[in-house]
Amino acid sequence: MDADLPSHGLFINGTWCEAEERRTFTVSEPATGTPLAHVASASQRDVDRAVAAAREAFDHGPWPHTPPFERARILHALATLIEEHAPELAEIESRDGGVPLRATTFTDIPLGLHMMHVFGELARRSSYEPLPWNDFPTLSWNFVWRNPYGVCAQVIPWNYTFCMTIWKLAPALATGNTIVFKPSSLAPLSAIALFKLIDESGLLPRGVVNLVTGPGAEVGEYLVGHPHVDKIAFTGSTEVGRKIMSIAAPHIRKVTLELGGKSPSLVLPDADLDKAIDGVLFGMFYHAGQLCEAGTRCLVHRSIYTEVVERLVERTRQLRIGDPLDLATDMGPLISWRQRETVERYIAIGREEGATLVTGGGRPRGELYDHGPFVEPTIFTNVHPRSRIAQEEIFGPVLAVTPYDELGEAITIANGTRYGLAASVWSRDLQQAIGVARQIKAGTVGINEHHVLNPYAPFGGFKESGVGREMGVAGMLEYTEPTHIHVDFQQKRDGKLWWDTLLPPLGE
Ligand code: NAD
Repeated sequence: MDADLPSHGLFINGTWCEAEERRTFTVSEPATGTPLAHVASASQRDVDRAVAAAREAFDHGPWPHTPPFERARILHALATLIEEHAPELAEIESRDGGVPLRATTFTDIPLGLHMMHVFGELARRSSYEPLPWNDFPTLSWNFVWRNPYGVCAQVIPWNYTFCMTIWKLAPALATGNTIVFKPSSLAPLSAIALFKLIDESGLLPRGVVNLVTGPGAEVGEYLVGHPHVDKIAFTGSTEVGRKIMSIAAPHIRKVTLELGGKSPSLVLPDADLDKAIDGVLFGMFYHAGQLCEAGTRCLVHRSIYTEVVERLVERTRQLRIGDPLDLATDMGPLISWRQRETVERYIAIGREEGATLVTGGGRPRGELYDHGPFVEPTIFTNVHPRSRIAQEEIFGPVLAVTPYDELGEAITIANGTRYGLAASVWSRDLQQAIGVARQIKAGTVGINEHHVLNPYAPFGGFKESGVGREMGVAGMLEYTEPTHIHVDFQQKRDGKLWWDTLLPPLGE
């Protein structure tokens, strides 16, 4: 272990502690390979302790009974803390995840802050939901009381750590749950930084939030299968999501899954190409294509196909690849060498399948790029909709462009994968675009925009892109169990008409 590097422990029951046997792993900057920190690698007994702390905080602590307005106040206070530390959080996220500082500074951290405020607002209406007066068979007052679910195991991937951490913690806290949270080992540092802020704030009772770090197949799998966990919220690959669902099945445990995607951008013949070209590229190459809802397939009407391809290529060649900490950088490295191997394998598959490589396909040249897994932004054209590069999630900067002749054909292609996470429709005719959006089987459709992450709106996937929703009221309610409470207004025994279907009337 390098004694000069920061060392981060586990956060269990309000205390930072080393992992059992002091096991650690090292986190490095993807762009340079420079080690950034040592991080505790939890054992099963550490996970047991974290779950026990969350269990105790839920079963005997004040948090589940804290009034919604007070939970709201705390979430808003946490948002203020994030705002105060925004520049350092942006730098941590950029170093650890390889995401350009321009993106973390102007989008990712502000979005996380916005999400925290929105869940502060939603927390106020998290517990009570009125129902209409019901006068059958007699008058009653009805409402739904939303109970917190209990101990939530939350597991996230590496590609959007800061926002994803808030995306998981905020709705669970808004509704009074307790949490054991596990980030990915590839980029856990902004999650750890957030837990440090939460700890220093002293705003949450002990044991309400707990952090365990370590390998997914050991720590993550043991956590989600833990018998004292009540709900699992997982974001990651469809393959691991499938496994988690099977782990939850014997216990009939509540699961929400946010999984992979192969989202299309549909460019209609009347699209404003000045917007559509940059929008498609933003949808594709933001975070180097390492976003679940990235617009990795571009479907273009044949009448504008040649022009769109030329302009996509021209703008892509202007993207500056480089050091994530340089504010001029548009695209950083991939998260790991392994991820680059995957991306390069798919580029080879694209060539073998007969698609036309029109730009990229290699590694950028120069000393800057020798120490990190950089890859050029890549575009294939004439991609067959059934080919592997049009069907499988690559999770890197590879765009598959396919022409279409009829709108109906475009919609069929758009819906023709096992995924259904997001899409965008590019058209000047909003009525037509809404009509298209309504036929697309995806959880989020942007009209003349991609990456439309809005904490007021539900986010999630159709088909193998997931189960349930996160964000918005729908996402928050995934963290609650509803109880319908019926208050009968018929005070007199002889007014309770349907009792007479079982019992003889009084006095007989
Ligand atoms: P991954 O599935 O390999 O890992 C995700 C998390 O699960 C990590 O924390 C990992 O340590 C843990 N994990 C791994 N194996 C596990 C197991 N057997 N049991 C429990 N936990 C386990 O995914 P990744 O490579 O980190 O992230 C990329 C994937 O995430 C892509 O498929 C992407 O589409 C998906 N993703 C989805 C969304 C969404 O909202 N739908 C958002 C971001 C990323």
